[in-house]
Amino acid sequence: MSVTSREVVREAARRRTFAVISHPDAGKSTLTEALALHARVIGQAGAVHGKGERRGTVSDWMAMERDRGISITSAALQFAYRDVVVNLLDTPGHADFSEDTYRVLTAVDCAVMLLDAAKGLEPQTLKLFEVCRQRQIPVITFINKWDRPGQDALALLDEIESRIQLTPTPLNWPVGVAGHFHGLVDRDTGGMIRFERAPGGAGIAIEEHLDTAEAARRYGGDWSGAIEELELLTLSGAEHDEESFQAARSTPVLFGAAVTNIGVRQLLDVLVELAPAPAARPTTDGGSRPLDSEFSGFVFKIQANMDPSHRDQVAFVRVCSGRFTRGMIVTHGTTGRPFTTKYAQQIFGRDRDTLDEAYPGDVIGLVNATALGIGDTLHTGPKVRFPALPAFPPEHFAVVRAVDSSTFKRFRRGIEQLDAEGVVQVLRSELRGEQAPVLAAVGTMQFEVATHRLAAEFGVRTTLDRLPYEFAVRTTLDGRDALQSEAGVEVLRRTQDDALLALFPNPYRLRSVAARHPGVPLEPLTGNS
Ligand code: GDP
Repeated sequence: MSVTSREVVREAARRRTFAVISHPDAGKSTLTEALALHARVIGQAGAVHGKGERRGTVSDWMAMERDRGISITSAALQFAYRDVVVNLLDTPGHADFSEDTYRVLTAVDCAVMLLDAAKGLEPQTLKLFEVCRQRQIPVITFINKWDRPGQDALALLDEIESRIQLTPTPLNWPVGVAGHFHGLVDRDTGGMIRFERAPGGAGIAIEEHLDTAEAARRYGGDWSGAIEELELLTLSGAEHDEESFQAARSTPVLFGAAVTNIGVRQLLDVLVELAPAPAARPTTDGGSRPLDSEFSGFVFKIQANMDPSHRDQVAFVRVCSGRFTRGMIVTHGTTGRPFTTKYAQQIFGRDRDTLDEAYPGDVIGLVNATALGIGDTLHTGPKVRFPALPAFPPEHFAVVRAVDSSTFKRFRRGIEQLDAEGVVQVLRSELRGEQAPVLAAVGTMQFEVATHRLAAEFGVRTTLDRLPYEFAVRTTLDGRDALQSEAGVEVLRRTQDDALLALFPNPYRLRSVAARHPGVPLEPLTGNS
């Protein structure tokens, strides 16, 4: 092994690249800040998700974004903890829930599923978890807000097991019910960790470690209750098993309260000790790209027009192999053309010394990357291609038309551009014609971004008419013919991958139509198709 090879393998082994999957208000922003408190923040690509003045990182590249006080444009936060470099990729998840949110999960090695103790599994968490499951991404569960009244800990575990068939394996256990919380049993040592707020509030919680005798003396019934529950769990085999965690069949569970920093250090320790480091990434030729081969990466997110004064596009790249150094000339896999990366540092952020290079698991932001598209591979040395990013199941549909027919050429170009960038999915049918494509999205924000950009960049005013569909499945040409007689059902072709999608107003309609046409293929869309 050459010196560089060894260095790349060593650096990759100390990377942990993950995202938080959660429903709005579960505490993702709070947890992100709490994690960063424990660590040395190295840099940010884009911005951490922020809300108005509470966090100062809301970028203002789009008037729309400013009006709403939210960030559509975040990417990754990098920090050092113990001897590990942690990359936390943002999953925009509020009004801006979109395909971007799902795509981030193609660039991580692990996910933290953040639950509100009072609410358990919520819809957006379930959707994101589904993508993790399809991609076999290991999931660590953090049950948050234990400082206030919530559900019973065992009931929360039951919900995880019965609704998403993931075996919960708690690594710690709360002493006291949600709302009357005294601390955590550390299953490793059997002792108890008590937390005290740092003076002044927002700091790292101060921990006190008690042995079992002391814990029993101080917390009597609550302590023995916790121990009994843990014995039950042990009997039912809820023990961490690294192999089943890595295979996404079980999930280590931690309890805590991000707002007071309780249990956050434990989460970081689990990320460092149990979460997988980057591994060789599968390539389109059926092989995989070893970590220590030459540089390669793929674009998982594109952010256009950060600077409104000139057309500009930033591509966020997840490094898969080799060492990236700023200024490197890389090959753009799709076109075979060279691509210069001398502007990489602008997004790298503050600390140049540590950010002039990147290793597998890291995220780099390339500005002026107008030639790059979602899913594109970048590499040096011999050609390598990573599989295209999957299209995710859309749930919102709308017809878009140019208001003024004289702008149609620009309209068409604009739609093609948005399609290529993965801003929205574009669906067409002969019936609807070229002038009235259907836009399909995971979140409605994508429509707003699309119409805004058609106006701002292509000078095309458009109208958008929502369609009464909420559900798409994959069908075939024969299926399309058979479904033509069904009222309220429509079949269109997705331009991105030529898939035929049958749109339904709801799953009930789908079931009744499927019952009438048993021979017609109606396959659910997944994050892998
Ligand atoms: P996000 O929407 O998931 O990013 O959630 P935020 O981090 O903005 O949190 C939503 C609300 O829950 C805020 O008012 C937070 O202060 C609050 N919150 C977050 N974590 C905790 C916690 O551990 N305990 C309590 N009581 N509140 C929390």
